[in-house]
Amino acid sequence: MKLYSLFLGVFLLFGNFAQAQLNSTAHDQEIESLINKMTIEEKVGQMTQITLDVITKGDDIYSSYEPFELDQDSLNKALIDHHIGSVLNTANNRALTPQKWYSLISQIQETALKDRLEIPVIYGVDMIHGATYTVGATMFPQQIGQAATRNRDLVKRGAEITAYETRASSISWNFSPVLDLGMDPRFPRIWESFGEDPYLISELGVEMIDGYEGENNDLSNPEHVASSLKHFLGYHAATSGKDRTPSYIPTSALREYHLPSFKAAVEAGAHTIMINSGIINGIPVHANKNLLTGLLKEELNFKGLVVTDWADIENLHRRDRVAKDDKEAVMMAINAGIDMSMVPYKYEVFYNSLVELVKEGKVKEERIDDAVRRILRVKFALNLFEHPTTNPKDYPDFGSKDFENAAYETAAESITLLKNEENILPLKKNAKILVTGPNANNMRTLNGAWTYSWQGEKTPEYAQDYNTILEALQQKGKKKNVTYVPGVSYKMDGKYYEQAPDQLEKAVSEAKKADVVILCLGENTYTEKPGDLNDLYLNEHQVELAQKIAETGTPVILVLNEGRPRIISKIEPKMKAVVQTYLPGNFGGDALADILFGEVNPSGKLPYTYPRYPNATIGYIHKPSEEQKKAEGVYNYEADYNPQYRFGDGLSYTTFKYSELKMNTTEIGAGEKLQVSVKVTNTGDRKGKEVVELYTSDLYASKITPDVKRLRRFTKIELEPGASKTVNFTISTDDLKYADQNGESILEAGEFKIMIKDLEESFFVKED
Ligand code: BGC
Repeated sequence: MKLYSLFLGVFLLFGNFAQAQLNSTAHDQEIESLINKMTIEEKVGQMTQITLDVITKGDDIYSSYEPFELDQDSLNKALIDHHIGSVLNTANNRALTPQKWYSLISQIQETALKDRLEIPVIYGVDMIHGATYTVGATMFPQQIGQAATRNRDLVKRGAEITAYETRASSISWNFSPVLDLGMDPRFPRIWESFGEDPYLISELGVEMIDGYEGENNDLSNPEHVASSLKHFLGYHAATSGKDRTPSYIPTSALREYHLPSFKAAVEAGAHTIMINSGIINGIPVHANKNLLTGLLKEELNFKGLVVTDWADIENLHRRDRVAKDDKEAVMMAINAGIDMSMVPYKYEVFYNSLVELVKEGKVKEERIDDAVRRILRVKFALNLFEHPTTNPKDYPDFGSKDFENAAYETAAESITLLKNEENILPLKKNAKILVTGPNANNMRTLNGAWTYSWQGEKTPEYAQDYNTILEALQQKGKKKNVTYVPGVSYKMDGKYYEQAPDQLEKAVSEAKKADVVILCLGENTYTEKPGDLNDLYLNEHQVELAQKIAETGTPVILVLNEGRPRIISKIEPKMKAVVQTYLPGNFGGDALADILFGEVNPSGKLPYTYPRYPNATIGYIHKPSEEQKKAEGVYNYEADYNPQYRFGDGLSYTTFKYSELKMNTTEIGAGEKLQVSVKVTNTGDRKGKEVVELYTSDLYASKITPDVKRLRRFTKIELEPGASKTVNFTISTDDLKYADQNGESILEAGEFKIMIKDLEESFFVKED
């Protein structure tokens, strides 16, 4: 009895703290005894992941008949003869109902459990802004919009709901979040990231992981999913700005800018990670043992599962040519530290090669044991051995009003007001409005890619019940006052960037009759290679439409609905107001209409720098030489840093005043903390939310030229008109360290600045 209460006491004391540890160790014995029983073939099978079309009835392994069905012979061949441990994706690139997911995954698991060792399959899907591939799921703003909210709670809530709805679809592994540094406006996946700041990405990334996995990373909870951090490491840094092309990243930059979000996420206990499909400094990341084993598994001590990106082992041979054949590619990747290969089609090649390599001693059995251990740990943590699937009937809140409200709120807090001349916004309810532009009546563009299908082209089939911008404006305003002419249209069955004028002249003549024009421009949906871009300027037809409409003299509100910041400098001066919606999801039209009519006060802040020119795409993190004042003498060098809008920009319908920036000391030593406070007052006449951001600036750094400033803390507050709040931040000397050329994190004595809005104060780091 005594012993029992002692045990219980210890458990209660340390239960919570130890939970994350428990999940990875509780099943160690079972895992070891399973590994001891496994043949090389069974181990290699666990390390193999195939895409769903491979095991369905269809003409070939790349497609399925509709309505699709699993093909039991292919299933047996894959899951029993080859012991395959994981399946991903949907079939025919189309969303499925929760019931369909349930019956399909149940059949997969029943088959897997017929294999000798009865190991369940782990099923993975990209549910990146809601349950992407589930009909009726709640679609949130894409990550870039979530970053604009600067609201940690909303990000976490969104991930919790996504986890719930993913489990309601019987899926337990989500290939999300993206923790890449969204540093290049040209890159086709910047909208999948949290933007350009390492601290912002780290903070929101951890919230997302907490939402997916639960704060204690307890995956046995059937409302949680395993998250997958991606894409380790430096994925968006491609020199060309195009997907899956080479990057050159010095060690200092890799450590200083790209690594922090992954480090924070590993510390937050994330269970899996996906590897960058690109090449860094000439070496494909999938073959880079220093990064995968040295940095990730040893230095960061990542104990989870490392999965490749799509086909990236064969890419070592077929695309990147570091391996002379497929077998050598397998050897390189597995020896570098890959645990699971997202094959995804011709699994026999991977499977046979790896079996042979182990038998030949070219891949050590300990290496594949390590991989299998990591895979089984996630399967045990997810409780898949007890409950290989989850049933939609146990998820009554799927698609509920409550969930939809959360998505609406996130959209409302993400939308960013970038310009508002003469307070043209909010609009008067009875204003005569012309709504125009290719994004005005378009559910596809509100959501972006990874929505019901990979490139988002199937959204119109599934999102009819939600409001486009036009429909929302018609509902909120007076319907008879809202006219719509497209002006320009996307070619919905063509390439994402193809578009054509569509009643352009009619749009211009209607603009003359309106009090105000809501001009909805931006991009059609895309991701990955198909989203590569050659010209960052906004499409020429859209520019022409904007120019012609502006010439009418009717005030124009430019609504941007785009995955990346397309350059608008040719038309921006003619716009009275500019509102960035990013890719706000199924409730983006409603949220925007509420902002335009003033029912919601905007509070989003840009998570990236909006460039003004194509040759000036540098972000807010840059070196002093990027914005040099005129030099004296005959060579009057100067460098002009003049983005269209800056990182952190975003207006409100009220105004905020910052005062009383205070610090508890002006000198700190290594390991000490600095307390900073600032008073924020709502000086306008409306309630509003404000994001308070603290930046530091290191005046001199001896090893690497310091960045002009860096975000160190942020919080979001809400103030009634006339109300004030003192916001407190604590920073430590760890925040002031930087990575030198060898990647060592160093702290140097000297003068620093604290900057909050337009206030700044100096402080010093003491010599040791
Ligand atoms: C993408 C990943 C995604 C994977 C699985 C790849 O092409 O780069 O982000 O998780 O496919 O769908």
